[in-house]
Amino acid sequence: MSAHTPGHTCVGFVVGERCGGYTCGRRAKVERGGKWYCLTHDPERVAARAEARSEKWRRERDADHARYARQAAEQTETKRRAACYADLLAACEAAQAAIVAAGMFLPDGDDADRLCATALAELMRASRKAREG
Ligand SMILES: [Zn+2]
Repeated sequence: MSAHTPGHTCVGFVVGERCGGYTCGRRAKVERGGKWYCLTHDPERVAARAEARSEKWRRERDADHARYARQAAEQTETKRRAACYADLLAACEAAQAAIVAAGMFLPDGDDADRLCATALAELMRASRKAREG
């Protein structure tokens, strides 16, 4: 990069909405490859700004993808739990009935133990299904 020499003007191209664009013409500050540019059109700064924009877009895109993946996983888990609901309810009702029946049979140990074992088995089956899908 050469030192600024008074009189150089920027050869950067300004894209205009009308007329198709024009040469910048502002006072140049840096020389790149034999051409002079203002700081706005300095090719190195232009490239650095473009890279910073791309990096920002990449971060935003990655964050979007991660958010979509999280939402999809949450929906899958919600559906899996909903699919277990009827079985869980039935198991709870069966277990409740078995426990109530066991209470009626107390203190007769054999029937009470058998009914409690049935209730426990129902609950274990339902909770295992809810955990494992
Ligand atoms: Zn310029």
